[in-house]
Amino acid sequence: MAITARPDVAPSAFATTYDRVMAEIAGREPGVGPATAAARAPGPRLAVVACMDARLTVEEVLGLSRGEAHIIRNAGGLATDDAIRSLVISQNLLGTQEVLVIEHTDCGMLTFADEAVRRNLAARTGANVDLPLLPFSNLEKNLVAQLGRIRTHPWLKRVPVHGLIYEVETGNLRPVE
Ligand SMILES: [Zn+2]
Repeated sequence: MAITARPDVAPSAFATTYDRVMAEIAGREPGVGPATAAARAPGPRLAVVACMDARLTVEEVLGLSRGEAHIIRNAGGLATDDAIRSLVISQNLLGTQEVLVIEHTDCGMLTFADEAVRRNLAARTGANVDLPLLPFSNLEKNLVAQLGRIRTHPWLKRVPVHGLIYEVETGNLRPVE
């Protein structure tokens, strides 16, 4: 099932972004449900991990306003050690209560082999390239693996963690759990 991102839909004060996205999918009114103290707390309550792809404009796609989310981006939208570091700070020092991971179709990370790129880089620079580039061959499986890492990481809180695939061809968002 897919939805069209609707940046023009004003969020209810107590609706989380994921609720809003799911509400559009289900065709229900967003923001229906108990308002928790966490939801009323000032500051962003959402952290987003997303691919750095230039076609994925996270704020626009999710309809986020300034101040509404921490957005952590890297090649692939991966829960790397550095993304975990940012999530630890986001949750523990800044109080976010929910995580969205967004990957997308036609991702560059689906198109290369780690070894080949590292070998070329080593040949060109003469350096020992011991940095894994972390490409992947299956978008859904990769996203599920990132969700699993965030959901089970010992340093992260047990908050809702959701996955979305952004379809660059259509502009639609597709939930992946
Ligand atoms: Zn990408």
